[in-house]
Amino acid sequence: MDCIFCKIIAGEIPSTKVYEDDMILAFKDINPVAPVHTVIVPKIHIDSANEVTEDNSKYVAHIFEKIPEIAKLQGISSYRIINNCGADAGQSVLHIHFHLVGGTELGEKII
Ligand code: 5GP
Ligand code: ZN
Repeated sequence: MDCIFCKIIAGEIPSTKVYEDDMILAFKDINPVAPVHTVIVPKIHIDSANEVTEDNSKYVAHIFEKIPEIAKLQGISSYRIINNCGADAGQSVLHIHFHLVGGTELGEKII
């Protein structure tokens, strides 16, 4: 499958790892929008939030269980979690991921 994030998980594309366990990987975004900008992905390919099911939702739950630790590793406890789902929302990589953004006062709230 031609998926950038699957290749990062497989180590075929280099990334700056922040956290890893058997279910998830967190790495620094290549184009950060804030001092802390980490991408958190499940180690199985799920296209987007539209494809979360009873069978694979444990990966998404695990991401949220680990978010405080991943944030703390980078010295922050206040942050924004963003998931873009689908073209209109600006999802550019079709492997579900959550942006962990912080390390500064975040402006530009949509909601
Ligand atoms: P999306 O726009 O789909 O919500 O987020 C995709 C994110 O992945 C973007 O913020 C983009 O900068 C990041 N990204 C795309 N390709 C790579 C890559 O090869 N390495 C890393 N570290 N981040 C990437
Ligand atoms: Zn993938």
